[in-house]
Amino acid sequence: MDNTNKRAPAGIEPTEERPVRKRRPEGVKRSSGKKRKKKRSFGAAVAIRSVKVIGTFLLSLFLIIIITGSIFVTVLTIYVLNFANVDETISLDREVIYSNITKFMYENPNYDPDDPDSEEYLLYYALKNPNRKSQWIDLSEIPLHVQDAYMAAEDERFMQHDGVDFLRTFSAIANTLLGRTQGGSTITQQTIKQITGEDEQRGVAGIERKIKEIFRAINTEKVYTKEDILQCYLNIVPLGDGQQDIIGIQAAANYYFGKDVTQLDIAEAAALAATTKSPATLNPYTAAEENGYRKEWVLGKMLELGSITDAEYQYAMKEELKVTADPDFQSRIDVDEDELNNQGLTDWFMDEAIDEAATRIAEKKGISFKDARQELYNGGYKIYTSVDMNMQKKVEKEMQDASNFQLYNLAEDDLLSCFICIDYQGNVKAVVGKRTEKTEWDEFNIATDGTRSPGSCIKPIASFAPAVDQDLITYSTLINDKPIEIIDENGEKQKWPVNYSEVDESGHWSGQDLFTWQMLARSLNTAPAQLVEKMTPAYCYNFLKEKLDISTLSESDINYAPVTVGGLTNGLHLEELVGAYMIFGNGGKKYEVTYVTSIVDANDEVIYEKSDGYKQAISESSAYVMNQMMQKVITESNGTGRYAKLTKTALAGKTGTSSDWKDLSFVGVTPDYVSGVWIGYEFLEEIPRDKYQNIGAIWKNIFGDVAETETHHNFEMPDTVVEAKYCTRTGLLAGNSCTSTGIGYYKQTNLPATCSGYH
Ligand SMILES: [Zn+2]
Repeated sequence: MDNTNKRAPAGIEPTEERPVRKRRPEGVKRSSGKKRKKKRSFGAAVAIRSVKVIGTFLLSLFLIIIITGSIFVTVLTIYVLNFANVDETISLDREVIYSNITKFMYENPNYDPDDPDSEEYLLYYALKNPNRKSQWIDLSEIPLHVQDAYMAAEDERFMQHDGVDFLRTFSAIANTLLGRTQGGSTITQQTIKQITGEDEQRGVAGIERKIKEIFRAINTEKVYTKEDILQCYLNIVPLGDGQQDIIGIQAAANYYFGKDVTQLDIAEAAALAATTKSPATLNPYTAAEENGYRKEWVLGKMLELGSITDAEYQYAMKEELKVTADPDFQSRIDVDEDELNNQGLTDWFMDEAIDEAATRIAEKKGISFKDARQELYNGGYKIYTSVDMNMQKKVEKEMQDASNFQLYNLAEDDLLSCFICIDYQGNVKAVVGKRTEKTEWDEFNIATDGTRSPGSCIKPIASFAPAVDQDLITYSTLINDKPIEIIDENGEKQKWPVNYSEVDESGHWSGQDLFTWQMLARSLNTAPAQLVEKMTPAYCYNFLKEKLDISTLSESDINYAPVTVGGLTNGLHLEELVGAYMIFGNGGKKYEVTYVTSIVDANDEVIYEKSDGYKQAISESSAYVMNQMMQKVITESNGTGRYAKLTKTALAGKTGTSSDWKDLSFVGVTPDYVSGVWIGYEFLEEIPRDKYQNIGAIWKNIFGDVAETETHHNFEMPDTVVEAKYCTRTGLLAGNSCTSTGIGYYKQTNLPATCSGYH
């Protein structure tokens, strides 16, 4: 299409329209300005003086109004030029309008920079409004009476004006000022409004939009023919009845009358044109009566404008419409293949990416989330995501396989689960929100929306990590398995907590001295309680909140139980728990957990890019010491995470069980990813241990293949950490005469003393 020159619309002679001065009716004479001289009386002199005074006053007033008016107009002009881009035009091309669909991309794992055909990013999902029904049709296929019906109903001077019908526009502005809305727009203006999606109606913003629209309309008419504009308009005009989202004349003809647009008769054309003003309340299906009245008005207008004959008018007025309103009409219209691609249900990752993209756009543009969400549909954004498509598909499949959870095949199976995997810069690679197949858009995702108890998974992040970071403990510090004393709700002293965990259900305190790593591997509650006592619950709470971005904490969590054994008031999102664990695999850095890496707008401008900033939650050396202790959780014969053990790849991790086995979680830290799984019931029932596999085994069933096939098998030890032998009697660095030793990992800045050997 050639858009560079405005072509005269076929059949329309460009006419110079001048306002035609009305003639005075015959016999009426204009009164002369000159008045006949009369003799002056005193009264007359006073009257003349008064007239002079009034005249001067009126003249002054007139000048004041002129001057004020000029200033006002100047200010207004400057103001308008400031916000309205006066040269702006809007593309009406089908390709451009359709390319305004927002696309989500992901990194191509097979990208070859030397191959010119290889693409760095592939299309993940083209975000089209899933309920919106439309099909583009060329103007040549749209019968003339359909075109005429629309011009009669919406813009009778369409073929004459230059984009704007000023009389109607000023009346619309006046109405806007009065807080009313009025459709004073021409077809050109309505087209622009539909394409830009700008829809502000009231107040200053409403006037600004209107003024911008005027400039755009005038410019658009310079570039496009009337036919181009009408074609675009008839394809994008909303005609839904409030139940179906119908866009354009073709989809409307199909939906309301079960016909192709080429088959519409005059009455049907008028009924559709009548719908446009307010589709939900004027359509021929759910508002048949109201539509009927307006249809008759449209037919009258068509007759008046000469677009139908009197006979056609009479016939159409008598015709009874046969409204089909078939919701499955879509099958009859032949939709472009490309438009249908990637238009299935969103997966779990996409839902999160859409939400995050809308949040970023809302932040960037200073608009509401809801508006940003809407803008995503036809904003033409390219949104780059961090998803690993193979991983996402793989874990979705594994999550749906009941044998990955059950010990044997159970008939009844309403156990819930969720999973998430994040890389060490906080980029989510895969997420699954429940075990069964996803059936809805934006379905509730337990990993990101659910808040459940982390149980003992809280220990590494709330007590052990900050304690190692503060040098309160080393890898092999001996800690006595004994309770602390706390004041309970009744103000009484209590020995707390009991050792209720996956391996020690006795609730007894052994009174034995155990190494820090043993305390963590067996998940005893006494050690974290002692550490929390030393640091204070408030310190641990703040560490979780400020350093690790746990957002679901409440003030009541500034207490022993929440930060020691995970009895949090609200629970937490698996997404945030797993996100917090990233510090154990990347040297203590807490990055923001994200799904979107960058956003490019329709003008190819990068409007958002994930920051590479992070919080150093704990030191690199503390993180590595923690990592080694958490590997013991997996490798020890009585470690709570032993069922998750991988064959080739190093794994650090922690299990979590909430009280009465209502929640089970496992978070695994491998050299490439941090990932976690949770299981539980909706209504907090006890998980039967005889029916389900160990949570470590479940994690391995879902993610083991992905974790294991990585080439990168080990964590790298930083220079700030020393691997050394410790004496198993004292937990100090082994001396020459210490006979029993183990291997430990120590911060260079916090090496234990060397054992004297006298024990
Ligand atoms: Zn010793």
